[in-house]
Amino acid sequence: MSFPSISPWPATLVDPEFTGFEIEGDVGCHHGLYAARKVSYDGTNIGRRFLACGEEEDRHDDCGFIQWVDPEWPPILKRAIIQLRDEISDQRHELDLEKEEYDYKKRVLDIDAALVQRERNSLNKGRDSLTAAELAMKEALAGCVLARDAAVSKTEATAMYLRCTIALSSVLAILLAYVAAVS
Ligand SMILES: [Zn+2]
Repeated sequence: MSFPSISPWPATLVDPEFTGFEIEGDVGCHHGLYAARKVSYDGTNIGRRFLACGEEEDRHDDCGFIQWVDPEWPPILKRAIIQLRDEISDQRHELDLEKEEYDYKKRVLDIDAALVQRERNSLNKGRDSLTAAELAMKEALAGCVLARDAAVSKTEATAMYLRCTIALSSVLAILLAYVAAVS
């Protein structure tokens, strides 16, 4: 059996059955520390237990010690592992593509929603302008009716007529604003 001297350790699995340090076996790493129990997640060695440097991982002072506990998996099992890993990576790739497509569609929908909102704001503004125009128009008409009916003297009639004209010009201004808002 070969003991590849690789550092840092290969990717590992969490296995509560095989964790901590190899105290009973009295196996030491090159540092002279009790070897750490690990379970490989690397290539076709997945699931194989091994002993590694006993130094704390976050100290980044791995001495490269590795001693496999389990023998190499038989060729038929290695082939199965490779096949499964390929399938997983294919599925992951497909998921990535689906996610990309989903993100794209979401962006398009967001843009559509923003356009609809802008349109709605413009329509609301237009509707408010029309309501204001309608009110001003009623006021102006009432003023005109008053001017016609109450034209007792020429001066009064002129004043009424002026008020009426001013009211109508404000209606015109509101309508112009409406046209600007909706176009
Ligand atoms: Zn060590």
